[in-house]
Amino acid sequence: MEKLIITVALTGNVPTKKMNPNLPVTADEIAADVRRCHDAGAVLFHVHARDAGEKPTLDINVYKKNARRIKDLAPGVIVQLSTGARAGKDWEERAQPVRLLPEMGSFTTGSNNLPGIVYENSPAFIEYLAKVYQETGVKPEIEVFETGMINNAHFLEKKGFIKAPLHFDFVLGAPGSMPGTVKNLQFLSESIPRGSTWTVAGIGKAEIPLSAAAIAMGGHVRVGLEDNLYLPDGSRASNPLLVEKIVRLAREIGREIATPDEARSVLSLDPGHKDRILSMLK
Ligand code: ZN
Repeated sequence: MEKLIITVALTGNVPTKKMNPNLPVTADEIAADVRRCHDAGAVLFHVHARDAGEKPTLDINVYKKNARRIKDLAPGVIVQLSTGARAGKDWEERAQPVRLLPEMGSFTTGSNNLPGIVYENSPAFIEYLAKVYQETGVKPEIEVFETGMINNAHFLEKKGFIKAPLHFDFVLGAPGSMPGTVKNLQFLSESIPRGSTWTVAGIGKAEIPLSAAAIAMGGHVRVGLEDNLYLPDGSRASNPLLVEKIVRLAREIGREIATPDEARSVLSLDPGHKDRILSMLK
């Protein structure tokens, strides 16, 4: 089996410090958490931006600050910036994090309901964002909340906007979309184009059980406070505690953990793109 790539979704758009004081919100907190999680075994970091009042923002300067601090404290890790919609709906604002030339960006190829909102990604917006991925050469992580999003990604690949091998993240267990069951994970993992890679992000209580399933199935794992605030025993989680748990599970099962460069090779990331973001952060 391939070595296991551990991704951390550190902050997200929804959790607050009131819900869990371990949530990293400022650039310093985010970068310090990246460092700790990387020391524990994680190599890929999914990053959002919050304003001074903790609210989600698409302010490109906050993204820059976050990326700069991460590159200072953990220069080797893979940075993936979010293009999610909770912070705003303006197309270009959502695309801007990709234009900072991180190694990866998130890309949801369809719409669905999430708590309190319609997570809206219209066909026209999807094509717009796909073109930005094409222009910049940034590798998208296709966020799949529903099966049709796999078909949309396949369609974009056939049209030449995004390049195979594709990398998928199955987000399972969010209220309003596909439930977080091993059956659904199995179905999705068998539905992606041959040669693709995949990871799973189980939401809430689904996080650790689906991670264990993915480790055994040969997929990869995303954990973090964006997706889940608690450990399975009900105590408060932190990003490093979640990573440590995944590393222990993987070791027990006999799956080795990927270094950043091993992850780059599994994900077919262009080695020349490793530090392109630095030129954008000046
Ligand atoms: Zn996110």
